[in-house]
Amino acid sequence: MNKKSFETFGISPEIVTALTSLRYFNPTAVQEAVIPLALEKQDIIVESQTGSGKTVAFGIPICEQAEWEENKPQALILVPTRELALQVKDDIMNIGRLKRIKVTAVFGKSSFKTQKSELKQKSHIVVGTPGRILEHLKEGTLVVDKIGSLVLDEADEMLNMGFIDQVEEIIGYLPNERQTMLFSATLPPQIERLASFYMNPDRASVRMEPSAENTPKILHSYINVEESSKEKRLLDLLTIENPDSCIIFCNTKDAVDTVEKYLNKADLPIDKLHGGMDQDDRLEVMDEFRSGKLRYLVATDVAARGIDIDNVTHVINYDVPFEKESYTHRTGRTGRAGKTGLALTMVSDQDRGRWQEIRDYAFDDSLELTEVFAPNERLVNRSKAAFEKKINARVAPKIARNKELNKDITKVYFNGGKKKKLRAVDFVGTLTSIKDVSAEDIGIITIQENVTYIEIMNGKGPYVISEMQDRTIKGKTLKVRKAHK
Ligand code: AMP
Repeated sequence: MNKKSFETFGISPEIVTALTSLRYFNPTAVQEAVIPLALEKQDIIVESQTGSGKTVAFGIPICEQAEWEENKPQALILVPTRELALQVKDDIMNIGRLKRIKVTAVFGKSSFKTQKSELKQKSHIVVGTPGRILEHLKEGTLVVDKIGSLVLDEADEMLNMGFIDQVEEIIGYLPNERQTMLFSATLPPQIERLASFYMNPDRASVRMEPSAENTPKILHSYINVEESSKEKRLLDLLTIENPDSCIIFCNTKDAVDTVEKYLNKADLPIDKLHGGMDQDDRLEVMDEFRSGKLRYLVATDVAARGIDIDNVTHVINYDVPFEKESYTHRTGRTGRAGKTGLALTMVSDQDRGRWQEIRDYAFDDSLELTEVFAPNERLVNRSKAAFEKKINARVAPKIARNKELNKDITKVYFNGGKKKKLRAVDFVGTLTSIKDVSAEDIGIITIQENVTYIEIMNGKGPYVISEMQDRTIKGKTLKVRKAHK
C-alpha cells in the first residue's frame, strides 16, 4: 500500500495544509504520476477513469504555480458540462484556499454579464465549458495573455458532445508558450490528433492501469420488463432494494418528468434534473442530493458525466441509454471511492437490440452481469415497512469536505460596491489599517454593483466586523456584517 505524503512533492505549506484539512492524506496513483511532471510544466496526456482523483492531480500544480499578485487568469480548464465546471471550481478553490486563489466558472445558460464582471476582477484560474469560453474570448471579456496552463478535462466527453472544433478554436487564442494537460478516460484517434497538433512532441503519457484501488466496484444487473408496467416495477424494485441514495436515469426530459411525478406520489424524497431546467434549480437539486436531503434523483444524462457525489448506492437505468458510452458514465456514478454500488438496467421489448449492443460494448469476461427477476408481491409487501421507515427518516447531513478548511474563514458583507466607485485596494487599505490585520488575513474579494464580499482568514472575521462598525472605506460609511451565504 502506498503511503507517500503530499509534502514529498515539494509544494507550498499552504497547499499541504489545505489538503490535510480536506482529508486528503496520501496521493492517489494518478496524482503520484502526474503531479511531479506537471510541476515541471511538462505537457501530459493522462488516460484515467473519473474517480481516480484527477481533479486534484491537476488542481495541485495549477494552484502551486498560480501567482496571487497576478490579476489576469493564469490557467484555463475546459470541461464538458456546467455541473462539472462548478465542481472543478469548488475542488480547486478548496485546494488553493489558503493561498487565496480565486477560481471563476463560466458556462452557458447563465448570465453572461455576471460572468463578464467576475472575469474583470482578479481570477487566477478560469474553468468553463467550451461554448461559453469561446463567447468570452470573442467578446474580449476573457483575457488569456497570461495563461500558462491549459487543462482539457474529460476530453473524450468533449469530443462526444461535439465540442472539439470549439476547443481547437479556443486553443488558437492562447499563448503558444504554455503547458497543456489532457485528461481522458479513453484515447480515440481524434484525441490523439488533437494532442499531436496542440501539444509538445515531448509530452509525457500517463496511463493508469485499472487496479483494485481505481476500478469502481459495481455490481451490474438487468431486468426484463413490460413497457406498460415499468413504473410499478421500478417502485417495487426500490421498495425491496431500499437504497440510501439512488439516481434513476431516463433518456428524455419527458420520461424524467413522468417518473418523478409517479415516485413523488409515493412520497419518496425525490427531485429531478434535466437540461430544460433553469440553471439555479439544477444547482439547488444537485446540492440537495449531494447533502443527502434527497435520497432519490431522476435525471437525464446531464447528471451522468463526471459528477462526483459520495455514496450513491444505486444507479437505475429506467431506460436503456441511446449511446452505449452513456452506460459507463451513468453506472460510474456509483461504486466510487472504494465503496460497492449496484447498477440495474430495466430492459423492455423495444430496448432489447440496444441492450445487446451495450452488453457487447461494456462487458467482457472480467465484468459480470446478472439477470434479476421481478420481485413477487409478498416480498414487496414484506419490505414495505423498512422502506417507508427509511424514506421518512431525516437524513443526517453529510459533513462537507471543506468544513474544516473553512472554519477559520468568515465571509464579510459590505453594502457598497462598484456603484460607489469602491475598488479592492480601498477595502484592503482600510482593513489592513486595523491593528493586527495584514494582507495575509484578507482572502477573496468579490465586488458587485451594490455589495462587496470579502473573506477574512485566520479566525479574524468577528474581530474585523466589530472594528469596521465605526470605520469608513474611502470616506464612506458602509454596513458591515457576516455574509449570510
Ligand atoms: P475525481 O477523479 O477528480 O473525480 O476524484 C474522485 C474522488 O476522489 C473525489 O471524491 C475526490 O474528493 C477524491 N480524492 C481525490 N484525491 C484524493 C486523495 N488523495 N485522497 C482521498 N480522496 C481523494
